[in-house]
Amino acid sequence: MAEIVINNLRKDFGSFTAVKSSSFRIEDGEFFMLLGPSGCGKTTTLRMIAGLELPTSGEIYIDGEEVGQKPASERDIAFVFQMFALYPHMNVRRNISYPLVSQGMPKAQVKAKVAEVARILGIEEILNRPVGGLSGGDRQRVALGRAIVRDPKAFMMDEPLGALDAEFREHMSEELRALHDRMGATTVYVTHDQLEAMQMGDKIVVMNHGVVEQFGAPQDIYDKPATMFVADFIGSPAMNFLKFRGTVEAGATSVQMHRQGFGIPEMREPFDGDMVFGVRPEHVRLGDEGSYRGRILAAEYLGTTQIVTLDTANGQIKARIGSDRVVRTGDTVALDFDPATVTLFDSASGRALR
Ligand code: ATP
Repeated sequence: MAEIVINNLRKDFGSFTAVKSSSFRIEDGEFFMLLGPSGCGKTTTLRMIAGLELPTSGEIYIDGEEVGQKPASERDIAFVFQMFALYPHMNVRRNISYPLVSQGMPKAQVKAKVAEVARILGIEEILNRPVGGLSGGDRQRVALGRAIVRDPKAFMMDEPLGALDAEFREHMSEELRALHDRMGATTVYVTHDQLEAMQMGDKIVVMNHGVVEQFGAPQDIYDKPATMFVADFIGSPAMNFLKFRGTVEAGATSVQMHRQGFGIPEMREPFDGDMVFGVRPEHVRLGDEGSYRGRILAAEYLGTTQIVTLDTANGQIKARIGSDRVVRTGDTVALDFDPATVTLFDSASGRALR
């Protein structure tokens, strides 16, 4: 079990900064996601926590002890790689028992431990099979078995399901989450897949260009994005961004956009200048009355809902509405937005205005 605190962590590779001044906190027992596009510094962050890469500056605390400059062997953290890093010439049992044998654990104890892990993972039947002929899922279970067998303080997983096909990936992600819930060990998991992060994580850090854009529970990140990057990266289709220029006072509960008032959550700070009105597709309402209008360009049927693309004074926007509503391409409809769900952004910095 481990609580992990990251404080102003930075990593330079020569003149390139891969991770810039990152801070976040991982509670004991959490399933914690590092999310962001390719190259944003997720893997580098994970490797620094595990001790496979030393930080240029900043601190890493594991259970209150600063370990940033300590070698991996002194951190008691297990790393699960994307490509199942198994020993191909050994059978499943030997692959799983390897870390214990190399620690010098007595034989009987190793046997009991491997049996327990095999039971947790449901792989008792394949213990004597060579890993070479196993399916992708079974190999992944063996790789997990090798990681969990030594009861480490925490697990680091770098896109562990990245090599699996979509259907099997979903099955394994449920299995992995259930395994975590049974064992309760702190797990840090790298992914570039926002859906996977939302489904599996207790908390998510969203990174971009080496910077932590936001850190919080999946629903907070979805409902209250801190930046336009986060709002755009999380959710599909992405949040609509309507650009406008205007003024909002402290305490305002509406903004004027194209000479029409739109409700917003109460603003604490005033702002004057270029803004972006952010609204998720499921919070766009199609009606008959109202002066803010959109022309229907397309409708994509998705079963219970449909995604309607509309042309408006602010460019194209998307609405997710029930598929029972009949929409016709070319029709013009009135649009309004659920005020409680709107996020305003400062257009220049991309930061949310609250
Ligand atoms: P991906 O999902 O593509 O692995 P990532 O978010 O995990 O992306 P990192 O692997 O952490 O990103 O890499 C962040 C940046 O640092 C990238 O631009 C990468 O090229 C660079 N980088 C990583 N390791 C090194 C290294 N050893 N030397 C130089 N540059 C590196």
